[in-house]
Amino acid sequence: MNIGLFGGTFDPIHKGHLALAHAARDRCQLGTIHFVTANLSPQKSEQPMASYFHRYAMTALATQGEKGIVPSLLEAPGEFVLHDKKNARTSVATTPSYSIDTIRKLKATLRKTDRLFFLIGIDAFKDIAKWRQPDALFAECDFIVASRPGYSLADVATALPEKLRPRAEVTKPFSKQPAKGDLVLPGATVHLLDDVNQKVSATAIRTAVAAKKPIRKFVPESVEEYIKKEGLYFRRSS
Ligand code: ATP
Repeated sequence: MNIGLFGGTFDPIHKGHLALAHAARDRCQLGTIHFVTANLSPQKSEQPMASYFHRYAMTALATQGEKGIVPSLLEAPGEFVLHDKKNARTSVATTPSYSIDTIRKLKATLRKTDRLFFLIGIDAFKDIAKWRQPDALFAECDFIVASRPGYSLADVATALPEKLRPRAEVTKPFSKQPAKGDLVLPGATVHLLDDVNQKVSATAIRTAVAAKKPIRKFVPESVEEYIKKEGLYFRRSS
């Protein structure tokens, strides 16, 4: 079976995340997609505003009733919860989770015949070469990279870790064409989703909540309700 792993801070989860997962599911016939709520993200300098537990709860709510999509506790934190009353923030004092470890943890639970796909947006993929053990990430699974308003999928090949990057002579003739299809290279397979076009980000949602603006069109109703009931994001993060 084809299995997807989709990691994110999900602070909060939103319709852009779900649109990416739907497009990936259809394109690569994914039987199950694990939505892995990150504890602390090594990629982000600012840590999440809502606690792991709230973000996981919202992920569980948003994926309820979504065919084949399951919330995952693979990056669940340890037991040290810090509450900063002054900034109305709760955080958990553990080390960041690295994707290579999460991928290997998930693979240990799969069958030999299963094939793993790592789902990611182009904004995050642009930094993939800086992630821990980048070459190993591509050896462990296929990548599915989705478009996102404001970013170009044409940057996919140049974002690859140096050892896996195709020579400029190879990619140049294609640089003027729209980036779509599959990029199959020695050591890396990348499937491009060029039709994900959701103008939404978790940052914009947090800002809207703090400004008492509606967020209904960006998140499932259950997530909107949860944010209201728990009073999340009512203060600006910075
Ligand atoms: P923030 O605004 O806090 O940085 P975010 O909206 O980018 O958050 P994350 O949880 O950091 O959400 O993203 C998890 C993954 O989802 C990343 O791979 C990111 O590229 C992708 N993603 C998030 N929003 C979109 C979107 N609107 N379209 C396509 N991909 C997206």
